Amino acid sequence: MKTAIAIAAHPDDIEFYMAGTLLLLKRAGWEIHYMTVANGSCGSVRYDAAQTRAIRRKESARAAAVLGAHYHSSLVNDLEILYDLKPLRRLAAVIREVKPSIVLTHSPQDYMEDHENTCRLTVTAAFARGMRNFATQPSRPAIDAQLTIYHAMPHGLCDGLRCRVAPELYVNTASVHVFKREALACHRSQKEWLDATQGMDSYLIAMDHLSRAVGQMSGRFKHAEGWRRHSHLGFCEEEDDPLRDALGRRYRVNTRFERLLDRGF
Ligand SMILES: [Zn+2]
Repeated sequence: MKTAIAIAAHPDDIEFYMAGTLLLLKRAGWEIHYMTVANGSCGSVRYDAAQTRAIRRKESARAAAVLGAHYHSSLVNDLEILYDLKPLRRLAAVIREVKPSIVLTHSPQDYMEDHENTCRLTVTAAFARGMRNFATQPSRPAIDAQLTIYHAMPHGLCDGLRCRVAPELYVNTASVHVFKREALACHRSQKEWLDATQGMDSYLIAMDHLSRAVGQMSGRFKHAEGWRRHSHLGFCEEEDDPLRDALGRRYRVNTRFERLLDRGF
């Protein structure tokens, strides 16, 4: 069975940006995996860090179960995702265990460092999968397998300097939107937190808006997730695009993005 893993920074990031694509891969017969590098420890105005960690671990595990994904434990506290050897060795062990053909992670340019550092750690952990002289924690043998990395849309669909980010490809998530919503609803503690800190009425409605906005960008789909493929160098063949192969009509290339790649922006 082919395997895909989503690696995001915080509990609920996967549900906002990646869960629709994961669900469609699951329906296409793939085994799917769910991991957030940080444990959500700062996501409360009511509970201390230890209580918040415990609450959010339960919420995340429940959300992964709703998606039908294998749950992997987080590595560090919120705001402590640093590009460092310790998390790199642990994340590389996960990649070697899961042996994914598809890796979904954050955009290299995003609104905050936890997201960008998760992206950097994930890319290097994937790069190190076959390097026998790179020790993972726990120790796992190097694997000889190709994989393709896809970057999700940044939070707010813009980079940290407010520039709009255009996806390379769209995935039509309309058929699984209700399950994506159900998984997001498992993060109950977050409604309270986001209401208090960001003035959002409902994080479920925020996800609906985001998904519709990307759908509108596609010019075709009601709900969509957007992705950009990482360079193939060190990972797979240049023409490899396993999302295209797995999702068929639910996948649509942004031809304008492809033309700009050839010309340079
Ligand atoms: Zn996040």
